[in-house]
Amino acid sequence: MNSTTEKFATKFQGSGMTSDRTRARMVDALRAKGVKDERVLKVMSDVPRHAFVEGALEARAYELDKALPIGLGQTISTPEIVAIMTQLICEPGLPNKALEIGTGCGYQTAILAKLAKQVYTVERIAPLMDKARRTLRDLRYFNIIFKHADGHFGYAEGGPYDAILMTAAATHVPPELKQQLAVGGRMVLPVGIESQKLYVIDRTEDGYVEKIVHDVRFVPLVSGTV
Ligand code: SAH
Repeated sequence: MNSTTEKFATKFQGSGMTSDRTRARMVDALRAKGVKDERVLKVMSDVPRHAFVEGALEARAYELDKALPIGLGQTISTPEIVAIMTQLICEPGLPNKALEIGTGCGYQTAILAKLAKQVYTVERIAPLMDKARRTLRDLRYFNIIFKHADGHFGYAEGGPYDAILMTAAATHVPPELKQQLAVGGRMVLPVGIESQKLYVIDRTEDGYVEKIVHDVRFVPLVSGTV
């Protein structure tokens, strides 16, 4: 191994607080919290979450309910909410095509990319998207298409999607996203300002069926790009 490969291996394999064993403990804790989908638990035990946060925070990457900072005022979604949202999105079946709004550090993107055939992800902050793109490339994900844009409008060129997952809270359900959902598809997103709720929207032959499932706390979905 040359020194670059060694550095790469250390970062991604982890040791001590970032090891396979730490990840296994996180998965046990998720199970104890009621996450049941073994497909989701398996990918969460495989993806090295610490590789998506800055060095000083790596050891805290597996704390179940911690939304750690990822720069530019944004936070990585907690393992618990990632597990809950991914489980919901996979309930109708593993998606062929999935759309994520709010790439952030790319951790949720990686989880989706292990379960869906193709993932499209949209982020409004260019430096965050570029960093996530690098991390995911280094981890050898080749089924992710990135777009720097305002996610309110989705990613029409890639649609329709079997799954749409949004990781920032909108004030309302963006109509463009509903349109880009395939019949039989499911969308999971936080909605609200002060008090946010997690919405699950299924598209059927006859229209949309909406359910509200959890109280949640996300950073807001912001208009425009930077
Ligand atoms: N899943 C990400 C969550 C990051 S926080 C992670 O775990 O890292 C939410 C992300 O949504 C932030 O990166 C934020 O910049 C992004 N975001 C906010 N409004 C957006 C919009 N209108 N379009 C696309 N991304 C948006």
